[in-house]
Amino acid sequence: MREGILFIVSGPSGGGKTSLVREALRRIRNLTFSVSVTTRKPRNGEVDGRDYTFVAEDAFRDMVEEGRFAEYASVHGNLYGTPLEELEGARRSGVDMILDIDVQGARQIKEKYGAGVFCFVLPSSFGILKGRLTERGSEKTGDLEKRLSEAKREMEEINNYDYIIINDSFDEAFDCLSAVIKSARCEYSRAAERIGEDYFA
Ligand code: 5GP
Repeated sequence: MREGILFIVSGPSGGGKTSLVREALRRIRNLTFSVSVTTRKPRNGEVDGRDYTFVAEDAFRDMVEEGRFAEYASVHGNLYGTPLEELEGARRSGVDMILDIDVQGARQIKEKYGAGVFCFVLPSSFGILKGRLTERGSEKTGDLEKRLSEAKREMEEINNYDYIIINDSFDEAFDCLSAVIKSARCEYSRAAERIGEDYFA
């Protein structure tokens, strides 16, 4: 059995990656989500254990000490980490996993595993991004500015990604993400083992 593929999805806040990832989980089979641990407070509608595992900073630091993260980083003043056990379990059992993580985390995953399919999601202009973040309205003014300047910094790492998914239209962006996932599964190195030996008998 082949290893589970890691699909890393990054991009600025407000770029729409969370909705795209949700849709992928809903519509594409054999795909699971890496539920990150964070010290951020839950937003309205977020469910503990589904969207994130919400913890206090002390608990997060303990997890770091215990080596329980595949990667972790500080983003917009909060800590976020990918639980190691779930990620390794998915890889071992051949389940493909989506990680919605920032550029620092993506870099760590690439260094650690030397594998993964790296996708960067963003609208086609900074103006559109700003509009979306403003509309979302869940950010205080200071937070909004922080997220916008963070977006510019994240752009500096876009060249570390394999795919760019422009999200001006949700449906087109979803088609693009879905194509990436499906084509990764069809790569020779992953799919060849599914061909019956009787072909070669
Ligand atoms: P938000 O607070 O808006 O849900 O997420 C803020 C940023 O943190 C997003 O860019 C998101 O991709 C990133 N993020 C979420 N979970 C993780 C994680 O486990 N590790 C890292 N490095 N970034 C994460």
